[in-house]
Amino acid sequence: MAMLLRLRTPLSSSESHSILGFCKELGYRTRYTDETRRLLELTGPGHPSHRSRLEDHVCVLEVLDAPPELHERSAGRADTVVAVGEARFGGGKASLIAGPCAVEDGERLVEIAHAARGAGATVLRGGAFKPRTSPWSFQGLGADGLALLERARVETGLAIVSEVLDPRDVEAVHDTVDMFQIGSRSMSSSPLLKEVGKTRKPVLLKRGFAATVREFLLAAEYVLAGGNEQVVLCERGIRGFDTVTRNVLDVGTVAYLKRATHLPVVVDPSHAAGRSELVRPLARAGLAAGADGLIVEVHPHPEEVRSDGEQAVSFQELGRIAADARALLALEGRELVSGRLEGAAVPPETAT
Ligand code: PEP
Ligand code: MN
Repeated sequence: MAMLLRLRTPLSSSESHSILGFCKELGYRTRYTDETRRLLELTGPGHPSHRSRLEDHVCVLEVLDAPPELHERSAGRADTVVAVGEARFGGGKASLIAGPCAVEDGERLVEIAHAARGAGATVLRGGAFKPRTSPWSFQGLGADGLALLERARVETGLAIVSEVLDPRDVEAVHDTVDMFQIGSRSMSSSPLLKEVGKTRKPVLLKRGFAATVREFLLAAEYVLAGGNEQVVLCERGIRGFDTVTRNVLDVGTVAYLKRATHLPVVVDPSHAAGRSELVRPLARAGLAAGADGLIVEVHPHPEEVRSDGEQAVSFQELGRIAADARALLALEGRELVSGRLEGAAVPPETAT
């Protein structure tokens, strides 16, 4: 494969020697394409790591036509479809993830899980380890929260997604969840990304609230580079200058990501809106931009919760969001994956 490097000019002879030597080390044959030696053509096998490695070289201004990185959608590459329990993300299938912000109470969690299932969700969310801005805020129930999530799965059959904050907790969280969540505040924690990259469990990777699209994709690349191919990207809003919404839902990026990467993309309208009445329209916007699913915070008594109560939607509103999703996806020949028991009012004692 051929690649082109745009070089700084003029290069000293030791700089020239260094870049030519480095290209050779990577397995390339080199040829300057012009007399000013601005452009260096590389011919060789190519590897997903080469773009970053060459960009790091002090003589290189730009790498053109680099070998595709692991997340990249090269021509004709089909969607990666990530399966989490009954849920499917990508390839024309979308799924609804719903649940409380944090796991707080076992009975309440099971009640929410049943309602989420009835509305059409196939995955239950709920943080046991919570990333909070203040060290004094509620930090989650930790391992006790994981146990409550396991109980909710047994009672409802929903798959579980929950956040892992610390590389040292990956093993414990792995044993409970069907999908890891990497939160916005952890997106750039390479030790954590490497650790979940070693597992073979799906990862819901949330975009850092101040991360560029390139930084977001390279965070996914960390997980993929570890051999874990099951990454779902999550756009949850980036920081803006206004306070009307909590974050700015970047739907342009959702549309862009669907073209730039084969990985599925979901939208989190809850953390973008920060207020319950705006969650439904933002959910619609995300799906219209091409998202392969939604992750929505839901709670019947937001006044009781210790985190993100203001953005929690009611069970009824979750049902409306799911109905919107079905209708919008159908317009494009896509589908919201429905669970076995969807629509059924499942009393806890008969749940499977
Ligand atoms: C969450 O999902 O509850 C959460 C903390 O989200 P984020 O990492 O996007 O802020
Ligand atoms: Mn939250």
